[in-house]
Amino acid sequence: MLLHCHKFVFALCIHEMRHIKSRFSRLFCVTMSLGLSACSSYHPLADKEIYPRPLTASPGEGVKVSFFGNTTILISDGDTHLLVDGFFSRPGPVRTLLGKIAPDRVELARELKRAGISNIDAVLVGHAHHDHALDAPVVAEMTNALVMGTESYRQIHLGAGSKTDGEHLFTVPTDGEQKSFGKFVVTFRPSDHVGAHGLVQHLIEGHIKKPFKTPARFWRFKCGKVYVIHIAHPHGNLVVTTTAGAKEGQLKGFSADVVFLGVGFLDKESPLRQNRYWHETVGVTKPEMVVPVHWDNFSIKLSKGLQPAPRVAFSTRAAADVLKDKAGDDGPVVRAMDYGDSLLLRDGQVRTVSP
Ligand SMILES: [Zn+2]
Repeated sequence: MLLHCHKFVFALCIHEMRHIKSRFSRLFCVTMSLGLSACSSYHPLADKEIYPRPLTASPGEGVKVSFFGNTTILISDGDTHLLVDGFFSRPGPVRTLLGKIAPDRVELARELKRAGISNIDAVLVGHAHHDHALDAPVVAEMTNALVMGTESYRQIHLGAGSKTDGEHLFTVPTDGEQKSFGKFVVTFRPSDHVGAHGLVQHLIEGHIKKPFKTPARFWRFKCGKVYVIHIAHPHGNLVVTTTAGAKEGQLKGFSADVVFLGVGFLDKESPLRQNRYWHETVGVTKPEMVVPVHWDNFSIKLSKGLQPAPRVAFSTRAAADVLKDKAGDDGPVVRAMDYGDSLLLRDGQVRTVSP
């Protein structure tokens, strides 16, 4: 498995080198490719404890929630469709770090079709890093959606030449906002990003101050403000965190039946910050189920299947262990999801075909 992963990512990186011109960059590229090839040997989907079987939503009435890698999540009650992020282009690691990135319209059309997505009411973007916000303007255009995002996201939207009237873009005020879509009530509450644990992460701190066009360097996609997303519906409530950080009191007074919990770099955080993250997302909302997200290598195309993040970034095993440890025996069930896996919320309960 590990050897297979090495070969796969290395081949991917070498394939991408055709975009890189200078000799220094190519040398750097080979070195980096070797580093990125050091995939985590732990694959959450091979862990029977958190992935005993694929999850399939029970048929019938309710809110169906489907997972498409990183923090791209489709939420639908049959009439209204919400999409978190909609990050489907997933440019490769070499192009991301050394070249320029842009939404890939061909890939987007292919992936939206494969995911069965045609019309979306709102694309919800929790923060402006490229692995969340890159595709949102084009996905919104292709699915006739409004984008709900931050002030930094607004600059990406403007740079893409997308429409910014109230039908197409809603910029969340600093202290958060609540907005209704059909029977859903979506609340953006101010939150925090996971700490910066390396040079690459430091490059993308701060805010986007003016619009820019793509293709662009990945570091133009600066974080901006971060919001935790709460989605309420008569059939059940859910929370999505697009990054493993939290502010004290961010979800005070909110409940959830399922929490989609971003775990990228969670293992690198101090025990204090890990505790706060768990308490302010799961502890406060008391869900029946926690689904770890943001654990896969988002530089690999979805058609290749979800692979764990490279070990040079963070340990997927250690991140999963944090969740297992916090949930303990009395806490919520922790369940990973594969691409296309789904669950149903009905009458405040998580329903799947096989329990
Ligand atoms: Zn981020």
